[in-house]
Amino acid sequence: MSGPRVLMRRIRELMAEPLDPQARLDQIVRQIAQNMVAEVCSLYVLRADAVLELYATEGLNPGSVHLAQLKLGEGLVGTIAATARPLNLSEAQKHPAFTYLPETGEEIYNSFLGVPILRAGRTLGVLVVQNKSARLYRDEESEALETVAMVVAEMIAAGSLEGLSRPGVALDLSRPVSFDGEALSDGIGIGHVILHEPRVVVTNLFNEDVEAEVDRLGKALGILRVSIEDMLARRDVAAEGEHRAVLEAYRMFAHDRGWVRRLEEAVRNGLTAEAAVEKVQSDMRARMMHMTDPYIRERLHDFDDLANRLLRQLIGRDSHEDSPAGDAVIVARSMGAAELLDYRRDMIRGLVLEEGAATSHVVIVARALGIPVVGQVKGAVSMSENRDLIIVDGEDGGVHLRPPAELAALFSDKARFRERRQERYRSLRDVPSRTKDGVAIDLEMNAGLLVDLPQLEESGAAGIGLFRTELQFMVASTMPRASDQERLYAAVLDAAGERPVTFRTLDVGGDKVLPYISQSPEENPALGYRALRLALDRPGLMRTQLRALLKAAAGRELRVMFPMVTDLAEVQQARELIDRELNHLTRFGHPMPHRLKVGAMIEVPSTLFQLDELMGVLDFVSVGSNDLFQFFAAVDRGNARVAGRFDDLSVPFLRALRSIVEAGNRHNVPVTLCGEMAGRPLSAMALIGLGFRSISMAPPSIGPVKAMIVETDVADLEKAICEKLDSAHGAGGMRDMLVDYARAHSIPY
Ligand code: PEP
Ligand code: MG
Repeated sequence: MSGPRVLMRRIRELMAEPLDPQARLDQIVRQIAQNMVAEVCSLYVLRADAVLELYATEGLNPGSVHLAQLKLGEGLVGTIAATARPLNLSEAQKHPAFTYLPETGEEIYNSFLGVPILRAGRTLGVLVVQNKSARLYRDEESEALETVAMVVAEMIAAGSLEGLSRPGVALDLSRPVSFDGEALSDGIGIGHVILHEPRVVVTNLFNEDVEAEVDRLGKALGILRVSIEDMLARRDVAAEGEHRAVLEAYRMFAHDRGWVRRLEEAVRNGLTAEAAVEKVQSDMRARMMHMTDPYIRERLHDFDDLANRLLRQLIGRDSHEDSPAGDAVIVARSMGAAELLDYRRDMIRGLVLEEGAATSHVVIVARALGIPVVGQVKGAVSMSENRDLIIVDGEDGGVHLRPPAELAALFSDKARFRERRQERYRSLRDVPSRTKDGVAIDLEMNAGLLVDLPQLEESGAAGIGLFRTELQFMVASTMPRASDQERLYAAVLDAAGERPVTFRTLDVGGDKVLPYISQSPEENPALGYRALRLALDRPGLMRTQLRALLKAAAGRELRVMFPMVTDLAEVQQARELIDRELNHLTRFGHPMPHRLKVGAMIEVPSTLFQLDELMGVLDFVSVGSNDLFQFFAAVDRGNARVAGRFDDLSVPFLRALRSIVEAGNRHNVPVTLCGEMAGRPLSAMALIGLGFRSISMAPPSIGPVKAMIVETDVADLEKAICEKLDSAHGAGGMRDMLVDYARAHSIPY
């Protein structure tokens, strides 16, 4: 039996013995030293104060245990911990980072092999062997040491090393960490971590029979490869495009010799197949955390996803862990909207994403559900453990993992304060939405799924100003059938009762990708083949939807609105499609809506210069300020680098918005606005000052916006805003003026 195999067997026996944790560590380092014929084996554990403390040693001065320490980044051990990479040196003293600790008496050793103790890509400590003679350790020795390091990592993660050092010493694993992310959905969430991609706790670390285990690994890899081939062969997978590119990368990785070799090697060293996957994955994650090239990071992420698939294959577990306390904060790298809906809503207190932007679909859905979200939180997944306490601050974009008691108390107060404010908003629910000087403002809500409907009652919305029909398509894995569409639309109209509902026809393409519709990659998807452009080119899809809408609205009013209109001709063409469907249904004796209103989104700047023509043929318009601002200011709404660079509360943009209201007044065509601006009290205040009398927003915003409205004298505000718009010179910011105005008039914003 090979050296590493013997070592693994010893360690397995040791883990089964009834030893106290310190004795177990002492035995582990002794066994390693013996097995590797090393004079020294030492174990350092990373503490919460970024110090590596000697926890056990064979060969160095035993009196230095729990006394000798190095800072993270200091000496060879500190370097290994900081870089998460092993060091294998035949002349350790010659390494530039070498420092020796006098209390340990290690100056006489020449060769040095140290490996990081990793868990899910996080460094928890360092394991070292040293020899007097100058030698380089063999790869299989290094592998064996890494494997034992993994066992120690599980011990640390299980908390069995707590309390071995002096009182008050906390390990890095329990260190509080705060992240600065981007606030994507408002609210404060306090709860316990649930890792969306379950971190499989590999309880069965050691295999009994190498060949059987290699075989098991091989079979799981085989199934993984077949499942990827299946996905690639499916007709509904795009022939080209990003989705396919990802799957092809998976296929390549699943056959990657280096990866498979490392997995097999770990199994041959005594690990079970799942422990081997976790070990190789952890190493990969550690490299990922230190990688700055976004392309390579992305490829490593693909590997990570693949490893997760393989783990699930081996362990046969697929469901999420539930938060026992019923207060889950989901932590994920990224997530689809449908995956969020797989969780029980009443359990979710917040969502933390390593990626994600304000307009990602999962974020739009979370916002509709009132779940606080912080995105762009790099490293959140590796730093979190299931059931860690965590705070999500969707107001300021902070995430606080394992917060100290004072911070947790502070946020509990903040949450209570918010709750009281929410209480006040709820009490406003039945108060008419009227300004101080008696002007009625119509507050409607945005929706897109069945789960949104209860919010109609709860928020006191006057109707649904924007129903994003594409959400039904995006959360489904196959194209929703005509009957599914009709059923959803009828349910929405039933829930709304007398309140108006504006259905927007499919706004897909660009970044809203439907996996079952093939689309070729585009250089500028936001400016590309999307929404109405796609619908008019492929009228089948649009006609099915229009028919479903007309049937669902039989005997009621139907309001249909087209997205991304760029030219009057498109409206005319779309209108013709409606007429065809109307004729068709009438011919077959279907009952019809008793009234039909057709509108368009104003979200492409070209429409600002044909407002009169458009309003001549439309029953209403709705400003999509998210897209309109993106095209107006040439800032990608999903790109965090530029999205915050220009302010939508600027003179030029507000002038553009005012021109839309004025055109509506000229033509007696109702104008509303349904972008995110409508939901922020300060910008909503600007909008009513510009003359908007109807706006539509995510349901949780209705309370705060109404609180602003009832304190505003719109005639006075209008004067102040128009004065500024007409006389402005210099830079175009209006935010300061609006804030000053709100403060001076005690308007909550
Ligand atoms: C908008 O663009 O402002 C809008 C409401 O539509 P969406 O966010 O769905 O593009
Ligand atoms: Mg839009």
